[in-house]
Amino acid sequence: MSIALTPGGAAGAEEIVAVARSIFSRSLTHGSTGNISLRTHDGILVTPTGSSLGTVEPGDLSLIDERGAHVGGARPSKEAFLHAAVLRARPSAQAVIHTHSTYSAAVSCLDDIDPASALPPLTAYFAMRIGRLPLLPYHAPGDDSLGPVAEAAARDHVALLLSNHGPVVAGASLSAALDALEELEETAKLHLLLHGRSIRPLTPTQAAALAPPAR
Ligand SMILES: [Zn+2]
Repeated sequence: MSIALTPGGAAGAEEIVAVARSIFSRSLTHGSTGNISLRTHDGILVTPTGSSLGTVEPGDLSLIDERGAHVGGARPSKEAFLHAAVLRARPSAQAVIHTHSTYSAAVSCLDDIDPASALPPLTAYFAMRIGRLPLLPYHAPGDDSLGPVAEAAARDHVALLLSNHGPVVAGASLSAALDALEELEETAKLHLLLHGRSIRPLTPTQAAALAPPAR
């Protein structure tokens, strides 16, 4: 079932598909993993269950409400509750992107991470776009008991890292969320490249001066 959208909602659906293609074509997620949401006047548009970001079309999208309930279109991703949770926690956010990006997922499997801060502020752009990145405990895919955990963490953080899984990033727009996701992935890559070396991240004062707004 495709969805009837207002012109604003239809433009949002096109935007989601453009970002989905960009993510998939650059291997920022793979297979049928990854999902994208955007607030519109019609509700929260989210990519559907079982779809690939490489082939999803605007008419395939789902509509959910702020509680994560399905209100129109195709059946939403089984991770849609995560998007609703982050959007509830961050009223200024318009969009959320979740992927299984390789380097971020690799960091999410490391045994020796501080769960309050999974990656050091290696670069100014990471400090600016992500700030502090909490690592949330492991939950099986689709386990919606992760919802309240993600909602609480998202109140104070733009991005979350799910253990043995991948990142969830909010943004004031879809392009801002995509920029932040890419910054996170590149920083995870740097972190792994630097493994075993003595590193000099930004100082707490330097990082705090660039930190994104708490909400
Ligand atoms: Zn996932």
